[in-house]
Amino acid sequence: MANLHIYIETKSIGQYTSKRMPKKACLLSFGCRLNQSEIVTLGEQLEELGIQVSRQLAPDIDLLIINTCAVTNQAISKCTQTLRSLVLKFPRAHVIVTGCYSILGKKILSKMNGIDLIVSNSNKNSIAALALEIIFKPKTKLPVVLEDPNPEPVGYFSQKIPRASYNKRYNLKIQNGCNFFCSYCIIPFTRGSPQSRDFENILEDAKAHAAIGLKEIIITGVNIGTYENHGRKLLDVINALDTIDGIVRIRISSIEFKTIDDKILEKMADKNHKLAAYLHIPIQSAANPILSAMKRRYSFEEFYSYTEKISKFIPGIGLGTDIMVGFPGESEKNFLESVEFLKTSPIQYAHVFTFSPRPGTPAAISQSFVSEQEKLGRSKFLRQISREKKSEFYNSNIGQIVDVLFEDRQNGKFPGYTENYIKVLTDCPENITNQIRRVKVVKNEQTHVIGELIF
Ligand code: SF4
Repeated sequence: MANLHIYIETKSIGQYTSKRMPKKACLLSFGCRLNQSEIVTLGEQLEELGIQVSRQLAPDIDLLIINTCAVTNQAISKCTQTLRSLVLKFPRAHVIVTGCYSILGKKILSKMNGIDLIVSNSNKNSIAALALEIIFKPKTKLPVVLEDPNPEPVGYFSQKIPRASYNKRYNLKIQNGCNFFCSYCIIPFTRGSPQSRDFENILEDAKAHAAIGLKEIIITGVNIGTYENHGRKLLDVINALDTIDGIVRIRISSIEFKTIDDKILEKMADKNHKLAAYLHIPIQSAANPILSAMKRRYSFEEFYSYTEKISKFIPGIGLGTDIMVGFPGESEKNFLESVEFLKTSPIQYAHVFTFSPRPGTPAAISQSFVSEQEKLGRSKFLRQISREKKSEFYNSNIGQIVDVLFEDRQNGKFPGYTENYIKVLTDCPENITNQIRRVKVVKNEQTHVIGELIF
């Protein structure tokens, strides 16, 4: 998972609950799409309580909320470095740390000066109210840890103030947690066992965001294929979203391919359904002994034939994967199997991770770690192949006419994404933000393509 920050745009619209001056908060999020979706919800909850949520890390910030990620050691150091520098830079701001590293790293975080509250993922929904409580009090010397072992149900959102300004695509959380227990993964420990959000609550949330103009919904969670609420499954969520006015595109975020119902593929292939022809299905390794040591639930052959099946069934589908390099015991031969897979499969790009031991997971106690230098070399090699595959895919789209949902203009051009997740940059004198427009793909610029509007 790539690290990224989200700054939520300033727009105070809440009714302030006291006569004191409005307080300002800035929210930073690292890690996955699920974390992004939760920080957006938190921003909305803060605004409901009258706390302004600012895009800028301005000197008058009263509250900083850092939503951390613990997926790799690199992710953790990025979070802690940012935290340390922000605490120094904004000494008067109250600081709340949450996300996957909050409880995992609580021993380290608890000793850090400047943090007021450490809140577990399962207590994220209490943060807005807690923030309102602490924000008028003096800063604490050492952090208070809030860790409720009983996770809250997922259908808890109270988004009375949905906001369109931060993005043109809405990450809709439908699920949390996982009990697959892949041997390297910390998520079952940081986010608990699977919890599916209330079906009606999901639809309310989607309708509220569609009503303010959001056109694309990205279905988000840890293991979304396991969604189940009173007999309703992921397919039911997708079909219900398809009926909502204003939503023009539904996208599934990362999903375990074994959990995909074939009927979902039929919806993807159906041009009259809003479900985008796009799948991000993690393989992690193409070597069977490694897949088995990872406790993944499929063989390489099963995965490969699935990618062949869907690329035939849904021509033009966007297909991405995750590959982890340097899992304990990964030999040169095992690694080359992943290389060969990426080169020859219908997959168009891979998000390449390097293994880092997560304390408490079975893979962390292995005796056969791959050296850091080797891991770096393997990642670099595989990332280059991924770039080449993506470029091939872009080339194959040159001359095609595609529909693009455009976002805010940046550096004079409008960026946007196609249904199959090609990034397109386009020149246009008029504002086409948040519009679906038809373009002709004319040039591959490696990280994106150039499209010309068809008027
Ligand atoms: S499926 Fe495996 S890798 Fe994915 S969250 Fe669950 S345990 Fe982690």
